[in-house]
Amino acid sequence: MIEVDLPGARAWFTTRKGGVSEGPYSSLNLGILTDDDPKCVTRNRELVAEAVGSDPAAVVMGWQVHGAKVAEWTAVPPPGRDGFARPGAELEKVDGHATTSADLALLVLVADCLPVALATPGRVAMLHCGWRGMAAGIIERAVESFEDPPAAAIGPGIGRCCYEVGHEVLSAFAHIDGVAAGRMLDLRAVAEKQLRAAGVGQIEQVALCTSCRAHLFFSHRRDHGVTGRQAGLVRRTG
Ligand SMILES: [Zn+2]
Repeated sequence: MIEVDLPGARAWFTTRKGGVSEGPYSSLNLGILTDDDPKCVTRNRELVAEAVGSDPAAVVMGWQVHGAKVAEWTAVPPPGRDGFARPGAELEKVDGHATTSADLALLVLVADCLPVALATPGRVAMLHCGWRGMAAGIIERAVESFEDPPAAAIGPGIGRCCYEVGHEVLSAFAHIDGVAAGRMLDLRAVAEKQLRAAGVGQIEQVALCTSCRAHLFFSHRRDHGVTGRQAGLVRRTG
């Protein structure tokens, strides 16, 4: 678990270490939409909730669809919508979460996409940032939902060393200088530039490539889809 302190909040980025899953999901797989044993995923989620000091029912997540929608949370999800504690419960189709509640931890699942945490004292957000979501403006939308510009933490994700993309993807970011070299896209640089453009000053980077570091992270691309999911979480500390 990698911890990053932000003003009034703490962000966590899980690794693949410290869980109970086996094989390609070894060991801290948090994704239920994989072929991993659901009992292992449930246990892994309990372990993560315990590590961050949250009740599993107070960890909120969505059904991620690579969009730009950000859900605003005010209370612990009711039974039936508590998809983190009870894998299989119905989830809202969103890629971002925000709250002013200090009781809730916000979570996104990733396996190459960037988990991005935003925080001001009093409000936090957590975003699942793949190229589609960033092209659709999830970062700008989330930053604008804060009264004052938040600080940000960008977690582990696929690096420019490993992220070869097609023309469709390159053209989505052709207007941003210095984020691509040939067909290699620097998703982290895209996130940083979008955050800066939206007014964010403080940006903490956990600049680890999920594809290069097989012992530390799941990588959808490296493992050809047969892999687990790690998480980014954020919660208010004050
Ligand atoms: Zn790499």
